[in-house]
Amino acid sequence: MTEISVVVRGGSVVTPEGLRRIDVALGGSTIVGLAETIEVPSAVRVLDARGCLIAPGLVDLHTHLRQPGREEAETVETGARAAALGGYTAVLAMPNTEPAIDAAGVARDVLALGRTAPAEVAVSGAITVGRAGQALAPLGELAELGVRIFTDDGAGVQDGALMRRALDYAKGLGVTLAQHCEDDHLSSGGAMHEGCWSSRLGLPGIPAAAEESMVARDIQLVRLTGAPVHFLHLSTAGSVELVRQAKAEGLPVTAEAAPHHMLLTHAEVANYDPVFKVNPPLRADDDVAAVIAGLCDGTIDAIATDHAPHAPEVKDVPFDQAPPGMLGLQTALPLAWQVLSPRLSPARIFALMSSQPAGIAGLRVTDARRAGHSAHGGPIELGGSANLCVFDPTASTVVDPTRLASRSRNTPYAGRTFTGAVRHTILRGEPVVIDAVAQR
Ligand SMILES: [Zn+2]
Repeated sequence: MTEISVVVRGGSVVTPEGLRRIDVALGGSTIVGLAETIEVPSAVRVLDARGCLIAPGLVDLHTHLRQPGREEAETVETGARAAALGGYTAVLAMPNTEPAIDAAGVARDVLALGRTAPAEVAVSGAITVGRAGQALAPLGELAELGVRIFTDDGAGVQDGALMRRALDYAKGLGVTLAQHCEDDHLSSGGAMHEGCWSSRLGLPGIPAAAEESMVARDIQLVRLTGAPVHFLHLSTAGSVELVRQAKAEGLPVTAEAAPHHMLLTHAEVANYDPVFKVNPPLRADDDVAAVIAGLCDGTIDAIATDHAPHAPEVKDVPFDQAPPGMLGLQTALPLAWQVLSPRLSPARIFALMSSQPAGIAGLRVTDARRAGHSAHGGPIELGGSANLCVFDPTASTVVDPTRLASRSRNTPYAGRTFTGAVRHTILRGEPVVIDAVAQR
């Protein structure tokens, strides 16, 4: 038997059948013991988890790490630290870096930086060269490195014929295309959701139809090609309904929603504070309700942060000129807990943030090993990967932008308090966060 190196003591493991009061012993990067009480010699590190839930480490499908190219906003290291503090043990880095992750060399560099980071870093590749929407990127070359998800995120693939070709190609490779659904013509010049607030504030609007028309087109392309599509950051009631129907039809579609689209509406823009500028934009009350309903009924498979750091000199400019994006990694779980715990069991909430996104990202047991990653998303069982999140549902998270691990400060939740706080995060058996403090 592997020697025990860490014991997580006194907490309750989250299982589909309910909470199970049990100690968890880790040896190396593996779970080696599960028992009511595990006694160990004093040299073994014991993490106090009394009153806490022990869940598989969270997996974020949508993290902008900004490296290479925008290191003043975030690096692989600082973004991964923010992730660890947020309870994440794995993030999928978005390819809209400078240069874009559209070739094996760039992917290799980011993966190499991730190897020593406090969270596992997987990468998604671009669908088109330079994310320019013109020519297909070398998907095969990237797939050989273990890349499972491809996206031009930040932009949608506008050309339907090119998207169809990419889907045919992706199907052959066994990889998934993820779409940022936005018709550039419909959203052109827009700064916020088109609705009562954009009229009142005199800001150009982005209609819900800009997103929904591409969701609808891509569902048609899934029907045509049989290739899977993952829909990034769904934000409108219409999009959620389209995905619900596509799933009812049995089409291979999955979807994610961002925490801010579960809580904030376009009314936040009232003071023209650019911290509330995000793409897709904050929508109306009905849209927020539809996103929550979609998470509850299984239409939406994952909560994904769209963590998008921007340096203050770039972000703190007039609303219409500011780049879209907000931080999310350190607030996602407490926010999701606050919104969803009255509606969903702990197992369902953690599934939306761990096992289900891990499945989409190819980070569950069988796929992960093939790509050189450790496995994420549980289950917490003997022999399972020691990637864990220990969450205290009764503590609170007070958001102080100056104390976030991210290099940037653009959180829309400054001064807010959420119920629930990440207490410990364990990556491959190593406690990288203890009592809400990053260990490296
Ligand atoms: Zn996007």
